Amino acid sequence: RPTIVLFTRDLRVSDHPALAAAARSGRPVVCLFVLDRAIRDGAARNRLSYLGDALRDLRGGLRRLGGDLVVRSGDTVTETLRLAAATGADRVNLSADVSAFAARRAARLREAGEEQRIGVCTYPGVTVVPPGAVAPADGDHYRVFTPYWRAWESVPWRVPVPAPARLDPLPGVEPGAVPRRLADSGAGPLSPRRQRGGEARARRRMDAWLAAACADYERVHDELAADATSRLSADLRFGCVSPLELAAAARGHPACASFVRQLAWRDFHHQVCAAFPDLPRRDYRRRDAAWRSDESGFAAWREGRTGLPVVDAGMRQLLDEGFMHNRARLLTAAFLTRRLRVHWKRGGDHFHAALTDGDIADNYGNWQWVGGTGNDTRPNRSFNLLRQSRRFDPDGAYIRRFVPELADQAAPVVHAPWQAERPVPGYPAPLLDEGG
Ligand code: FAD
Repeated sequence: RPTIVLFTRDLRVSDHPALAAAARSGRPVVCLFVLDRAIRDGAARNRLSYLGDALRDLRGGLRRLGGDLVVRSGDTVTETLRLAAATGADRVNLSADVSAFAARRAARLREAGEEQRIGVCTYPGVTVVPPGAVAPADGDHYRVFTPYWRAWESVPWRVPVPAPARLDPLPGVEPGAVPRRLADSGAGPLSPRRQRGGEARARRRMDAWLAAACADYERVHDELAADATSRLSADLRFGCVSPLELAAAARGHPACASFVRQLAWRDFHHQVCAAFPDLPRRDYRRRDAAWRSDESGFAAWREGRTGLPVVDAGMRQLLDEGFMHNRARLLTAAFLTRRLRVHWKRGGDHFHAALTDGDIADNYGNWQWVGGTGNDTRPNRSFNLLRQSRRFDPDGAYIRRFVPELADQAAPVVHAPWQAERPVPGYPAPLLDEGG
């Protein structure tokens, strides 16, 4: 009897333990992706656009192995069981995932599967180290990064599994189409310079990164204008790159240690989210912070019109690319939560509607970190945004790239245009007193 491999956000054939196990069993394999209505309707257009690319590429990858990708729309559990009934499958393999939605989906699948004598098996693959694989003596997950990171580094990692040599497909299953204009059913911006998706593109990005740029990461990753980070976040978000394969390869280069540490941050937020699935909704650590509802301030922030150039550049990069440099994410989030005192959730929701790499654990975990309700061991940490602007974009090239009104301004004015002799035409006065 066949096995169904249910793909979710692990859209690759390489190092895919759930797929590899199905292929090894010698049974026919039916690969399925369900465009779940609960996710598709209202999802970020940038992510749906990436997803469309990734599904087409995955279908190509599976066909090269002799298999195919069956695509259905609706409720994942219903569609999976329907396909099981149609094909006689008695087993469903999928990758374990951490969000509340994913946990509910797996639980519903297990429960319904039990009634119909269909075994449901989960496999690792979404993180380097599975959530729960390392835990402190006094709890079920780590609340602080550094001890987590030490445990993460020292625990033995699984060995990446190659793509199956060949799949034994089941004839007669209608594959279904990947909708051509998937992004149309979503919401939020469709960024003109958004990243394209799929395993083939992701692998090229990963190989180029490991071959040429990773070793310089420590020195340049914080420079806003250099844009010298891997840009693999969306590939990791959709599983077009295996986080384990990437981490294991990077660990082989001693110069990439600080890059590997960033991958540990990703795993860290995932194990927090697995233990606290309310991460996108509720304070992880209760703080009696006084939030304000500042509608005009929030609108100015969203549109990149706060009058503080480095913040406006970040927010406009988000709209233009569906991506923002990590340093700019920190500064824009600090501006919203610490200066305007607008709740972290509003900022997190806005990011989530626009980021191609938007990920429940990483996005809301980081927003809570900046907002002071998360895992930061110094929750009252202060960010002097103007100083950070001068430090991480010293000659203002990042600002000029995204804020055309300031394209003719040199440093130091480009960081603080209110200090110019005459107002810069078309650029707003600062919303808050930014000092000098
Ligand atoms: P690189 O610097 O090349 O890092 C490599 C990988 O490490 C990233 O792709 C990512 O998977 C991981 N990583 C790096 N930094 C972090 C971090 N602080 N937390 C978790 N993982 C990290 N990242 C997302 O993938 N999705 C999000 O929705 C997201 N939202 C964020 C919101 C805020 C407010 C902040 C401050 C950070 C957020 N990040 C998020 C983390 C980080 O900004 C991005 O992962 C990074 O900018 C992506 O670019 P890159 O792939 O070139 O990163």
